Amino acid sequence: MTYTVAKGNQLTDPDHVTPADNAVDLRSDTVTRPSEEMRRAMAAAEVGDDVYGEDPTVNQLQKRAAEIFGKEAALYVPTGCMGNLICIKVWTHHGNEVICEDRSHVNLYELASMSAIAGCMPRAVRGGADGILTWGQIEASIRPKIYYDSQTALVCLENTSNMAGGTVYPTERVDEISDRAHALGLKVHLDGARIFNAAAALNDNVANMTKKVDSVMFCLSKGLGAPIGSMIVGSKEFIERARVYRKMFGGGMRQVGVVAAAGLLALEKSPLRLHEDHENARHLALGIAQIPGLKIDPASVKTNIVIFDCAATGMNAVELCDALYERGIWAQDTAFYSVRMVTHWNVGRAGIERALQELKTVVQRKKGQVA
Ligand SMILES: *Cc1c(COP(=O)(O)O)cnc(C)c1O
Repeated sequence: MTYTVAKGNQLTDPDHVTPADNAVDLRSDTVTRPSEEMRRAMAAAEVGDDVYGEDPTVNQLQKRAAEIFGKEAALYVPTGCMGNLICIKVWTHHGNEVICEDRSHVNLYELASMSAIAGCMPRAVRGGADGILTWGQIEASIRPKIYYDSQTALVCLENTSNMAGGTVYPTERVDEISDRAHALGLKVHLDGARIFNAAAALNDNVANMTKKVDSVMFCLSKGLGAPIGSMIVGSKEFIERARVYRKMFGGGMRQVGVVAAAGLLALEKSPLRLHEDHENARHLALGIAQIPGLKIDPASVKTNIVIFDCAATGMNAVELCDALYERGIWAQDTAFYSVRMVTHWNVGRAGIERALQELKTVVQRKKGQVA
């Protein structure tokens, strides 16, 4: 059996673009569209050439990101993937190993760039069901310091853990892993694409949560609602080296304050409303748990990502997603029998209710056919 992706996740045929307004789009929080306020700020943004460091809006965004994370400096990058790659490149040499969780974004969804471009081997470690690594699991995967073994250089953590269902690292765990990794001469990078969702779940601030890691990447373009852009933060020296690789990888942008203006609003305002997405995700999970054939533990849903199992419906994930897609509900297949729905600011409670209603209908219809 070949495994293809669901209709809603294929590269959209430009002649058949479905207006997103008609659909409840829960494929990802990347689909968020900028607010009117963001569009106004973009139109009014002061700009300059950012490769010369002359874009005042970008400089302001970088200053605020550094302040909010309690780090020395920050750098605006076009995408989260580029941000992660830059950080990996700064912290490693060709031939090194990078310890990461098996289901992590750097391992599965970045086109093997840490190998293809940074020249490193991912050392993928399976965490618990929650995708959260322990120091013990990491320590067991560190290569011995002997000249004929490739050397471990970096530990990458992911918070929230996307494919484990938006789970959250306890801050003490991040601190412990960082302290112990540093004691062995390893660096720690945090893929914090959704770190503000983790902060909302912990009711903590990102500066405290990331105080011990060497670098953080976070996305402005997901739940925070900016149209484009991610940030990396760390020490001044780290950011100076990161700026070189950003340019090398083609990420030096010019009058990009036009976009950074939306990023500033995303950074200052959007974290304050993420709990709404989390409440919608919990409501969605509770509803899904009531539908015979679908399996999820609602208590495991801590942020805005809902992953459930559909094996008992008689449909695989692609079939279920395709059936939902026809009814205006867009979800993502994440494994053969596993479907992901991500809540965000363009889907309110009414959209969640519609998604639950359509899920019920699709699953019941299938049962009718089978019976
Ligand atoms: C989305 C995501 C990224 C990459 O961000 P892009 O802007 O899509 O390149 C990295 N890590 C995680 C965990 C993500 O969810």
